[in-house]
Amino acid sequence: MMKYPLTLQNFLFRAKELFGKKEIASREADGSIFRYNYSEFYNRVCKLANALEELGVKRGDRVGTFAWNTHRHLELYFAPPCMGAVYHTINLRLFPDQIAYIINHADDKVLFIDSDLIPLIEKIRDKIKVENFVIMGKEKSYDTKFDSYAYEELIAGKSASYDWPAIDEWDAAGTAYTSGTTGLPKGVEYTHRGLVLHSIVAALPDEMGLSEKDNVLHIVPMFHANAWSIPFAAAMVGAKQVFPGPQPTPEVLVDLMNSEQITFTAGVPTIWLMVYQYLKQNPDKKPKYLKEVISGGSAPPVALIKAFREEFGIEIIHAYGLTETTPLVTLNRPKSYLQLDDESYYELKTSQGLVAPLLEMKIVKEDGTEVARDGKEMGELVLKGPWIAKEYFKDPEKTKEKFTEDGYFRTEDIAVIDEEGYIKIVDRVKDVIKSGGEWISSVDLENALMAHPAVAEATVIGIEHPKWQERPLACVVLREGESVTKEELIEFLRPRFAKWWLPDDVVFIDEIPKTSVGKFDKKVLRDRFKNYYLR
Ligand code: ADP
Repeated sequence: MMKYPLTLQNFLFRAKELFGKKEIASREADGSIFRYNYSEFYNRVCKLANALEELGVKRGDRVGTFAWNTHRHLELYFAPPCMGAVYHTINLRLFPDQIAYIINHADDKVLFIDSDLIPLIEKIRDKIKVENFVIMGKEKSYDTKFDSYAYEELIAGKSASYDWPAIDEWDAAGTAYTSGTTGLPKGVEYTHRGLVLHSIVAALPDEMGLSEKDNVLHIVPMFHANAWSIPFAAAMVGAKQVFPGPQPTPEVLVDLMNSEQITFTAGVPTIWLMVYQYLKQNPDKKPKYLKEVISGGSAPPVALIKAFREEFGIEIIHAYGLTETTPLVTLNRPKSYLQLDDESYYELKTSQGLVAPLLEMKIVKEDGTEVARDGKEMGELVLKGPWIAKEYFKDPEKTKEKFTEDGYFRTEDIAVIDEEGYIKIVDRVKDVIKSGGEWISSVDLENALMAHPAVAEATVIGIEHPKWQERPLACVVLREGESVTKEELIEFLRPRFAKWWLPDDVVFIDEIPKTSVGKFDKKVLRDRFKNYYLR
């Protein structure tokens, strides 16, 4: 066979040549919908590549994006990598200092900013070394406190063709940083090869399942793990793409699902929870064309999976991944021969699923041996594969921590695997509670506590213990106007867990501290209650 490079150029050219008439729709900041097709999209990508070249962007240079899901962002997913440069998506939910750090660490040459986000960049303008700023939106100019171009003006007069260079499949195409739950954010570089193989696998019927017939709504932020590669996979198959634009609300999303006849979409559980609540209040808006949605980023509550299926006829498909894994690692579709009653069906749906084709996975115990496929024994999930990072960008120290000597990436997620190969994430390495040589899943205890009607939020942390190394402490936030005692909560947990799993104590707190991206920040609570069991 030929030695032929796997690059994103193929997706771009194929979309133009075979699906030129297929539509791309994008909600602008003023709520209007901009429409064009892959043929016009291709022309604008060429114009953008010419503009980037004039701004001095060279091979290997990084082009930052600080933006919502729009057609302009899609153009930035293609122009830089196809001309040999690298797109760098920046998470706009991070703290300003983290954003400045990331932009400088990545050494972004140009920064593309959605117009409503200008104030956020103004705050850090003096701290970042970017040479050129481009404001995105439909206007031809914008008022900024720093020198800037307007996107539409910048590309307006440029040529609609571009002399695309030959690209090596191992070249970087994109970059993103993890949110940095602990310490500074860490950068990951995605190769053309990794993104291409990931997109092909993501599109398979037993993975996310994408076809030319689909109308895709982009809910996963494009600043998060390549929007799960859905923009690339959709272009590859020639699906219609719909972008919800700045500040999308559940109302905007649901209206687009109906008006654009959406058949495919993906998002985090929080989004599905918001959509659920919105649909309960607006039952006449139930999405007519949607049979399933992909959910990843954290585990969706089983009640939500059930409600979507039974009330709306929409199946929640559970997937799992990380920034370092492009992100797809596992996806859950029950195998055809499994005989499942209602209870075992939903039980299975809460698991993260089967490992994707082309990846190699192990779940290893502290002594380095693999866990039994019994759904019980816990270990850390480690990975190898064509779209798994092999290092952190310019960070040898972090690289050493997170990659094993035998070439695996450490997810720092604790998992179990059953005899069918379905894996279930039960905790993170830093959060699992180590009690007398055994591990207790903080996540299982939290979910059980949060099922109590008086509990708004709960987290369970491992606290140093004189006899058992660590013991669980439950930190509980009560719903307004509700009350419950410690003893009642422990009794509530008792039938569901082994005795030694039950928290030794419960503390009631006002709120659970959160990280910049809204995950529970257990580090803060562990510090606060450090000596709780040593007193
Ligand atoms: P960060 O690692 O900075 O929090 P990521 O977006 O890369 O940011 O998050 C990846 C982590 O999210 C995983 O390591 C895992 O702990 C969690 N995660 C992702 N998907 C799921 C899922 N379906 N179920 C449970 N946890 C998940």
